[in-house]
Amino acid sequence: MTRSLNKIVGALSIAVLVAMATLFASCAHGQQYADVSGPDTRTKLAVPAPPAGIKHVIIVSFDGGKPAVIDQAPMPVLKSMAESGAATWNAQTIMPSITLVAHTSMLTGVAPSKHKILWNEWKPERGPIATVPTAFALAKQGGLVTGCIAGKEKFKHFNVPGTLDDFEIPDYHAAACAAAAARFIAARKPGLLFVHFSDPDGAGHAFGWGSPQQIQALADSDEALGVLRDAVAKAGIAKSTVFIMSADHGGHDHTHGLRIPDDMTIPWITYGAGVRKHFSITQPVVTYDTAATALWLLGIKLPADFDGQPVASAYVTR
Ligand SMILES: [Zn+2]
Repeated sequence: MTRSLNKIVGALSIAVLVAMATLFASCAHGQQYADVSGPDTRTKLAVPAPPAGIKHVIIVSFDGGKPAVIDQAPMPVLKSMAESGAATWNAQTIMPSITLVAHTSMLTGVAPSKHKILWNEWKPERGPIATVPTAFALAKQGGLVTGCIAGKEKFKHFNVPGTLDDFEIPDYHAAACAAAAARFIAARKPGLLFVHFSDPDGAGHAFGWGSPQQIQALADSDEALGVLRDAVAKAGIAKSTVFIMSADHGGHDHTHGLRIPDDMTIPWITYGAGVRKHFSITQPVVTYDTAATALWLLGIKLPADFDGQPVASAYVTR
């Protein structure tokens, strides 16, 4: 009896060890996610010429910015930009719906199956993103001034040599990122600038998605967005600047990462020069459309294997 029990326990232990070894091996190769979004399956829409005179695109990501929580938050800047510009509150992120994987799709224009950045922390040994060009690299090839200002160390993967005139991780908080971005806007009037606000994600993990603390973090991030809008006005470039505000993922309870509407649904809002006024976007928007839209607006040719398509319906096209 005891001997056969020992045998069973022994066999079970080996099974557990094998499972753990497999898991670690797959983690080591960055393949720990069972559900990874493949290439885009939407019909390719005809792409018109972009609106004339766009010289600057500023992408702002509210980390964990779930539309249903934004709806409850005092965010006068974002909401006025959405109301007077063009918006959808039903854009979609990719799987896995986590920060580094999703931002890589947002800023490379391709699905995770192509960019293969399938981990979610700063891994110095992996170095900068090398599987596909980033939007910054494409913009830089087009002769533009580029910047990436983020609140989390994992964004160091975007710092590909020769592609960014400014790369900063000033602090975790939105206020510090916005202040750094405002300085860069004043000094260089960038062609393509990405600014990341961590606070809503941090509060979501600590206190829950939709918690009062997360609502406050969204309000703080909205104030930071106001700093960016003011910096653009002060630099005298408002008439040639387009803003795109979005998020990498939503969330539920204290987490995110699943293929469920709570985690997958993100806002996609655009405001500024050439944007349709009071326009509700109905074309389906996926996060990799952000890179496609930014580059299209700036007159840069999109690589043939992009999954993203410009959200052209949101603009007064020629
Ligand atoms: Zn995130």
